[in-house]
Amino acid sequence: MRYEDLYRRSIEQPEAFWAEAATAIDWNVPPQRILDYANPPFRKWFVGGTTNLCHNAVDRHLAERGDQLALVGWSSETGSVRELTFRQLHREVNTFAAALQSLGVDRGDRVVVYMPHTVDAAIAMLACARIGAVHSVVFGGFASHNLALRIDDARPKVLVCADAGSRGGKVIPFKPMVDEALARAEHPPVHVLVVNRGLAGELPMRPGRDVEYGPLREAHAKAEVPVEWLESNEPSYILYTSGTTGKPKGVQRDVGGYAVALALSMWSIYDIRPGQVMFSTSDIGWVVGHSYNVYGPLIAGATSILYEGLPTSPDPGIWWRICERYGVRTMFSSPTAVRVLKKQDPSWLQRYDLSRLQYLFLAGEPLDEPTAGWITGALGKTVIDNYWQTETGWPVLTLMPGVEMRPVKLGSPGLPSPGYRLRVIDEATGQDVGPGEKGVLAIQPPLPPGCLTTVWGNDERFIASYFGHFKELLYSSLDWAIRDEDGYTFILGRTDDVINVAGHRLGTREIEESVSSHPSVAEAAVIGVHDEVKGQVPVVFATLKRSDGDAAESAAQMMRTVTEQLGAVARPSRVYVVNALPKTRSGKLLRRSLQALAEHRDPGDLSTLDDPNALEEVRRALERGA
Ligand code: ATP
Ligand code: MG
Repeated sequence: MRYEDLYRRSIEQPEAFWAEAATAIDWNVPPQRILDYANPPFRKWFVGGTTNLCHNAVDRHLAERGDQLALVGWSSETGSVRELTFRQLHREVNTFAAALQSLGVDRGDRVVVYMPHTVDAAIAMLACARIGAVHSVVFGGFASHNLALRIDDARPKVLVCADAGSRGGKVIPFKPMVDEALARAEHPPVHVLVVNRGLAGELPMRPGRDVEYGPLREAHAKAEVPVEWLESNEPSYILYTSGTTGKPKGVQRDVGGYAVALALSMWSIYDIRPGQVMFSTSDIGWVVGHSYNVYGPLIAGATSILYEGLPTSPDPGIWWRICERYGVRTMFSSPTAVRVLKKQDPSWLQRYDLSRLQYLFLAGEPLDEPTAGWITGALGKTVIDNYWQTETGWPVLTLMPGVEMRPVKLGSPGLPSPGYRLRVIDEATGQDVGPGEKGVLAIQPPLPPGCLTTVWGNDERFIASYFGHFKELLYSSLDWAIRDEDGYTFILGRTDDVINVAGHRLGTREIEESVSSHPSVAEAAVIGVHDEVKGQVPVVFATLKRSDGDAAESAAQMMRTVTEQLGAVARPSRVYVVNALPKTRSGKLLRRSLQALAEHRDPGDLSTLDDPNALEEVRRALERGA
């Protein structure tokens, strides 16, 4: 099959296309109508069909592959590996579901899952899905403030947590953070269910509210909990965006559309068939963790590896050792993680048998050419840039080696996934721009299956955040893009990351790439800062590969590099060398906060900031003036 034929059919005959795609999953009642778009921009897929994510991820595979590995939880933090076959996973999920029911959780109730990246977290999610409860996974690296915000938004009946997580060998007790969050929250859950990993020692438990999972697991060891069949458009989960551009949005996902989109993506994009192995290094707290650590691989009857730990510990070969051990076929990670590996001895990539590894997919932020080029060469495998969002749930732009491997163009995540009518729009006129011209990436609704159905509890925010940018009703998360003559799309960063210097519009990403091409630079963030004369001027914050490097000399060289490569108009007006750049917990540069500080404004919502010290350092650098 050719990519072009698949894509064209998905656009020209969407209902026929998706009706066929829907046969890849089990339905209890088949869909009565494929698409209902009577109330734009809301749309419903597979109306009247009833199905269940847990059934499709687990039960469906018991007959044929009950003894095949479903999940592998590999922890460098605890030095342990936990392997579960589909049959064992089925057992654990039934038990967990019974435990949730014993605490009063019912169909439609919310359950907040605040867990480290472990098999138990996946079991908790699948148990919720089984009984029709709506899970809201909160990244285990967030502290009590973030947790409290998300609790108040979701109003859960139960919160599931672990006693502790661990990062770089340091135990991080979760329970005290949960207690603090519950004290702050206006709508705390009735019960807290604690999965005790035995990491945190004595646990503070509040009688009546807090329950340990261990005894419940024994009590329900043989429980059989029937699957709750949900109408395709009922909510399956809530998940928050990264908060890069402001207050995080609670993305609400459906059941049927999500399952169908994931099933399609597993064979067509990730080239995974039943019995094969996928390893995504994302945490379960992000959308990649939901789609390609848990639901996608399991729905496809594949094995999924959940890795808890740093990519460099116990040594920088750990990911590749895991690939060898389990015969991983497809890996999924992020440019940030690859940049960490790039700083290590490259021979770590040569020590293991990676003959079964075919692909490395990277998503989450722009994949710059130096990083893409380095990992492609070092690994000797196909590296594919993936562009998507928490909102979309699965790739928007990608290459599809499961259908037809089109050539990689460095710097571009490739071509649209099936069902996505992508347009590139001129901000000023609202008209489509031609090939090679910059515009804003937009999706012509109805959004395909898998994408968000609304913002949890806030239809107005859904419409205003995503559909209110143009005269025409178009979805956009405001990323800049250029489409070339071959239909490949290049993402230039976010529209609020554009710098307007004396009428010239410059993407922060182009300047960042230019700065990063300087050999002593590890990473760079470029922002536009208000200037009386020029409107805005580019300002650079950079980290150096060697902390003992000459900062002033490097800064001067960076300015020269940018001037040579992009012209005098892009010349940074100032370069600040710092030890760390402020990022979200999901690894994205917080340019809006850098810009606010540089313009003496409030840095804004910092709830998802990873390392407060990084922002403090920026503040000091700005005060020092270098
Ligand atoms: P928020 O919406 O709360 O501001 P966020 O947009 O960072 O946060 P995510 O859903 O985690 O939340 O990230 C999606 C965004 O990440 C995209 O809109 C895009 O800006 C960026 N992105 C993701 N993948 C890529 C990629 N392959 N190339 C370039 N940018 C990417
Ligand atoms: Mg976004």
